[in-house]
Amino acid sequence: FPSLPFQAKMSRPVQARRLEGIDKNIWVEFVKLAATYSKVNLGQGFPDFPAPDFLQEALRRALGENHMLHQYTRGFGHPPLVKVLAQFFEKLLGRELDPMTNVMVTVGAYQALFCCFQAFVDEGDEVIVIEPFFDCYETMMKMAGGTPVFVPLRPKAPKDGKLMSSADWQLDPAELASKFSARTKAIVLNSPNNPLGKVFSRGELELIAELCVKHDVLCISDEVYEWLVYDGRQHIRIASLPGMWDRTVIIGSAGKTFSATGWKVGWTVGPDRLLQHLRTVHQNSVYHCATVAQEAVAQGFQRELMLYGKPDSYFVQLPRELQRKRDLLVQSLLAVGMKPIVPEGTYFLVADISEFKSDVPDVPSSDEPYDYRFAKWMIKNKGLAAIPLSAFYSEGHKNSHSNFIRFCFAKEEATLKAANDILQKWKQEKTS
Ligand code: PMP
Repeated sequence: FPSLPFQAKMSRPVQARRLEGIDKNIWVEFVKLAATYSKVNLGQGFPDFPAPDFLQEALRRALGENHMLHQYTRGFGHPPLVKVLAQFFEKLLGRELDPMTNVMVTVGAYQALFCCFQAFVDEGDEVIVIEPFFDCYETMMKMAGGTPVFVPLRPKAPKDGKLMSSADWQLDPAELASKFSARTKAIVLNSPNNPLGKVFSRGELELIAELCVKHDVLCISDEVYEWLVYDGRQHIRIASLPGMWDRTVIIGSAGKTFSATGWKVGWTVGPDRLLQHLRTVHQNSVYHCATVAQEAVAQGFQRELMLYGKPDSYFVQLPRELQRKRDLLVQSLLAVGMKPIVPEGTYFLVADISEFKSDVPDVPSSDEPYDYRFAKWMIKNKGLAAIPLSAFYSEGHKNSHSNFIRFCFAKEEATLKAANDILQKWKQEKTS
């Protein structure tokens, strides 16, 4: 094109307005740091132990058995998977479900969340988020034009010198009620909660449900850690409370459920009235999830349905194993003076590092919250990766919650032992 001026480089702004202010992401930075420096990575939330044999076998079978499993399947969910999910959730919720309209399969729980925000949130809508929260809630709702309204879980000191538990972090009922208004479109509930591991009690869920019904508000219920509850606690599904089925989307993840986070198979369960809009987003974004992975997850659920509540069930065995690992990490942290907040669920544990402030004087100073600087220092200098808790707070609240870091304990025993060795060595260095 000889007539074109030589500088044909684009000069106009290319970024859509909806991306303003949401381009930074803590995971990119910390995943890179952990990969570069850490010897032991208890940062990002994924198991380093294998997915169960029955699931791996199911995938191998799916790959070899039927060549049509390499092709497209039904866009809203592979029929065997939506059928077995419907059967499973009928049992859990005590209501009849139609696999074709009450269940939709997504690319991990992450895409289920994306579908919810795109489908329900308009410019100017407010969405209540309980802090601390899984960070993508805020950015995803902002991308849809919504405004987050934060309400904190407030810690209460435990009595009698007991260790703090995630149950000691509670909502203030009056404060929660004050956040609901005519502009509130939805509340995001995450129980068991990432990062604290809090399992919301029936009383707390009833309070949230009452407010949702009173103000005619939707509930986006992220339940990806539904099977990971400890010490005999029970995960209660808010959709089973009076008035809530009609206004709740339940979100789940095969990644968390079957220790296979890389498969990225997730689902939504809810009334057709809500799911029909999720289907619109799904079919106009990803449209489809890998068929073989869906087939293998379907077989995993068929096994679990047969073994429901029995000792051989993975959903019984996994939490038992993880509770033991949680307790190992609690002991390691206590031994060096980090105060663990004992989680009732999930595979995360938050530890208080305030006593380390005087012991680690060489943490560089900057405008970043202390826990960011501490976590980066720990990865680089001790080879142990964890995530700063303030990453799970909104911008205005980060600095007031910067004395904690989050560890993931869904790890091989050898990994937890290696973490313990680093901590013990660190303690000796501190005292010598
Ligand atoms: N919700 C929460 C609370 C999570 O912690 C995660 C993963 N860390 C997800 C959703 C996303 O799950 P998935 O890997 O199935 O997309």
